[in-house]
Amino acid sequence: MNSQQTARNLDELQFDNQFTRNLPADDETKNYRRQVMQACYSPVLPTKVARPQLVAYSKEVADFLDLQVNPDEPDSFADVFAGNRVLEGMEPFAMCYGGHQFGNWAGQLGDGRAINLGEVLNQKGEHWTLQLKGAGPTPYSRTADGLAVLRSSVREFLCSEAMYHLGVPTTRALSLVLTGEQVERDMFYDGNPKLEPGAVVCRVAPSFLRFGNYQIFAARGDIKNLRALVDYTIRTDFKHLGEPSRAVYLRLFEEVCRRTADMIVHWMRVGFVHGVMNTDNMSVLGLTIDYGPYGWLEDYDPNWTPNTTDATGRRYRFGNQPQIALWNLMQFANALYPLIEATEPLQESLDQYVDHFEKDSQTMMSEKIGLSTFQSDTDPQLIASLQEVLQLVETDMTIFFRKLSLLESEGNQSAEIDEASLLAPIMDAYYQPEQIVGDVRTKICAWVRNYRNRLRDEHSLDAARREKMNFVNPKYVLRNYLAQLAIDKAEQGDFSLVNELLELLRHPYDEQPGQEQHAEKRPEWARSRAGCSMLSCSS
Ligand code: AMP
Ligand code: MG
Repeated sequence: MNSQQTARNLDELQFDNQFTRNLPADDETKNYRRQVMQACYSPVLPTKVARPQLVAYSKEVADFLDLQVNPDEPDSFADVFAGNRVLEGMEPFAMCYGGHQFGNWAGQLGDGRAINLGEVLNQKGEHWTLQLKGAGPTPYSRTADGLAVLRSSVREFLCSEAMYHLGVPTTRALSLVLTGEQVERDMFYDGNPKLEPGAVVCRVAPSFLRFGNYQIFAARGDIKNLRALVDYTIRTDFKHLGEPSRAVYLRLFEEVCRRTADMIVHWMRVGFVHGVMNTDNMSVLGLTIDYGPYGWLEDYDPNWTPNTTDATGRRYRFGNQPQIALWNLMQFANALYPLIEATEPLQESLDQYVDHFEKDSQTMMSEKIGLSTFQSDTDPQLIASLQEVLQLVETDMTIFFRKLSLLESEGNQSAEIDEASLLAPIMDAYYQPEQIVGDVRTKICAWVRNYRNRLRDEHSLDAARREKMNFVNPKYVLRNYLAQLAIDKAEQGDFSLVNELLELLRHPYDEQPGQEQHAEKRPEWARSRAGCSMLSCSS
């Protein structure tokens, strides 16, 4: 916040609700489950809860909302962000959208447990939508309860903020509030329901529009509202593309393809696996959205998926994310088709997605290994063989890249370095160091030697390279077990680890002496514990 901008109390927040002002509302105002036709949203109020209690909040998010959080009055803040008090200017609503789930058209989905409160207009003139997740049923709740539990809310809150600080496009999270009520969940859908503490996260983004918001109108043949929503999107978040027209619709699609490619390259860079890349979980702004059964790669395994619901098909496995994003973009193209009525220009943008993704991921990988130039004749091979080397034995992705920066390449050009010295910097990345023998050892050493030669060829300076690598290879990520430890404590009423991790993950690329225990390999106990390596959609 600069000196001209003043922090505001809750009651002084300014709202400017473009979405509800410009788009058609559902006429029905009663809150019961139904199909909602010819409307972008349904007005609905959050359900009041018993005893809101603030667990944590993000100072940066409060800052860009110009919101002053008074530490002496946590209760009034918790009251608003649990949904108990609707501020003047807020116009709560749930959005109507559809989506493809696991490759199949699922019809109407909608905000089943998300309630948008309104759009804060900050002093910079930016619009930020506030959205409560877990604040009670809406017309889109289908057979579920509209609530969220503490475990999934801690995961969403921490991961949104961690991703932002990693430089990954994402929705943000303002706050995490306990409701003081219990919610029943059958975590593994195996007939063992338990009561868990209920919680609400306040998510924040310029817009929460998803591919599915457009798909629902196209699927219903409601071209009038499809056009209204696309025009609205262009006039609000894509103003730079010009006034809506057929040509601008195409530019919109091109830009969504571009942004999606960027987002996926970042996921692949940091080892993030979304887990449920359904088209209703794809933001039109290219933001990571809906943190459910996501996970972080520990062992570098492109086939890994954290989502138990996806365990058989592994549709949403780490290595498949680029293809799935393309498939999802194709569904988005189909939704826009009625406004374009030609396939070739849409196909061109899809082709560009592939080109951008390939080019940008090559650049990303070469930055991860600290090359200052990309040599198209040899580097693709160097990178491809690195992918193989990473899969020879259980290798921690985050530690591997972070420690690789410690390799020394300067010095006597002709000296042959012995295997132990070659491997020393990266040994920490191996879960079973005793496996680094024989053929495995030979292959890893061969790669490191090639890499070292490559660095020498470009006269790489170790210190400068290390610094550059440490900007793209985080030391700290929200390891699956760390989130679980924070959850275990929070469920006992101790929010200290949630807040410590929030602080730690504000500087993921810094060494942060004294915090090394949070950068270590996943401990053995976490290998097969629920929440640490397997997540379900139940949340
Ligand atoms: P997700 O898999 O979390 O993206 O959710 C898919 C759809 O189910 C969305 O429409 C959600 O709003 C809805 N949904 C998920 N959990 C709940 C819940 N507990 N209550 C109501 N709707 C839910
Ligand atoms: Mg979702």
